[in-house]
Amino acid sequence: MPRPDVDIAILGGGCAGLSVAVRLALAGRSLLVIEPRAQYVDDRAWSFWRTAPDPFEDCVRASWSRWEVGGPGGAVCRGSAHMRYQTVAAGAVYDRAQSLIADSPLAALSMGTSANDLHKSPDGWRIETDTGTLHANHVIDTRPPRRIPTYGQFFLGREIRTERPVFDPGSVQLMQFRPARSRGVDFVYILPFARDCALVEVTSFAPTSPGRAVFEDWLETEIAGLQPGRFEVLREETGALPMEVGFAEPPQPGVIRMGLGGGAARPSTGYAFTRIQSQADHVAEALRRGAMPRTLRDGLATRFMDRVFLQVLQTMPERGPALFEGLFRNAAPDRLERFLSGSTHPADRLSVMTSLPTLPFLRAALVPA
Ligand SMILES: Cc1cc2nc3c(=O)[nH]c(=O)nc-3n(C[C@H](O)[C@H](O)[C@H](O)COP(=O)(O)OP(=O)(O)OC[C@H]3O[C@@H](n4cnc5c(N)ncnc54)[C@H](O)[C@@H]3O)c2cc1C
Repeated sequence: MPRPDVDIAILGGGCAGLSVAVRLALAGRSLLVIEPRAQYVDDRAWSFWRTAPDPFEDCVRASWSRWEVGGPGGAVCRGSAHMRYQTVAAGAVYDRAQSLIADSPLAALSMGTSANDLHKSPDGWRIETDTGTLHANHVIDTRPPRRIPTYGQFFLGREIRTERPVFDPGSVQLMQFRPARSRGVDFVYILPFARDCALVEVTSFAPTSPGRAVFEDWLETEIAGLQPGRFEVLREETGALPMEVGFAEPPQPGVIRMGLGGGAARPSTGYAFTRIQSQADHVAEALRRGAMPRTLRDGLATRFMDRVFLQVLQTMPERGPALFEGLFRNAAPDRLERFLSGSTHPADRLSVMTSLPTLPFLRAALVPA
């Protein structure tokens, strides 16, 4: 095989690809990110509870110390003195990553290029792209998963600017449950940036998406219900995220798999940004030591809890709103938010377990995996 063109080839320059590229570029590694998009647009807002530092902290657009869940038993308002719910604009993350990669003499980003087949030889990897062949010592594959999950989070959101001040910018509406239009659990999510500006999103946790037409009609009804006066749509986002325990595509041996295809979405919620940041830390650190990083796999207890939780949502979706409401009402401050962000600390897990009703969970736990 010819000399490698680059030490590390990163397939896909989305959240996971850029997150790991930035860490490796800052460490002075030789790398190339291969990304099919010709240019980036501000296509999504990543929101999460920050639990650890990451290179995108100056991309935070807004943060909140209060959030609300509205279920059948009424509204639950929660807050934290320690943890903030934050939003980073994807556009700012893409800009920051591009500039850090450009500043590194051994790192580069190839836009408008798709990676296709990968071939392993004793000397390294040959990567066929639609603009030629690339040789690398390591491959990090962050391309989207090809497999369709058996259960997922589906949503349509619009960031709107309204004529009337209809939002409370002090509190995120995390989940306002609605009668289900999907075959699962349906809720509205409102991320208020100002009294007259918010991302309003309709979301289903369901086996399949209810479809664009259903989402559009539902979203328009929700926005009209806010009585916003005239309003302007600034941006739209839509997604289908896996919610499935163990959802990860087994990579070709020797390939490092990251992102949604590497099991980064929290199975019981779909939150992925924080888990992608810890995957990126883990992969960069392993490569620094010359070790082969393993895609992070949740521990047995975490997988068991996620499986039981999903089992309840799938078999008894009508109980979903009360379950989430109960979780937010009963779990100890900060512990639930850490658990939702990927914490596997036993105290966080215990707090979540003890805030759930015993009977349906016991039944679900008895169903074989
Ligand atoms: C609209 C939206 C909003 C979201 N909001 C949140 C949120 O608020 N909080 C949260 O925690 N998670 C959120 N998520 C979930 C998750 O964080 C994102 O999906 C995240 O972008 C996943 O990162 P990724 O790198 O796996 O995938 P992506 O960011 O989609 O990156 C995959 C990359 O692979 C590239 N690619 C595709 N084919 C090829 C190919 N053949 N060769 C090379 N590259 C290829 C794509 O162009 C893309 O850039 C959201 C997802 C969406 C879609």
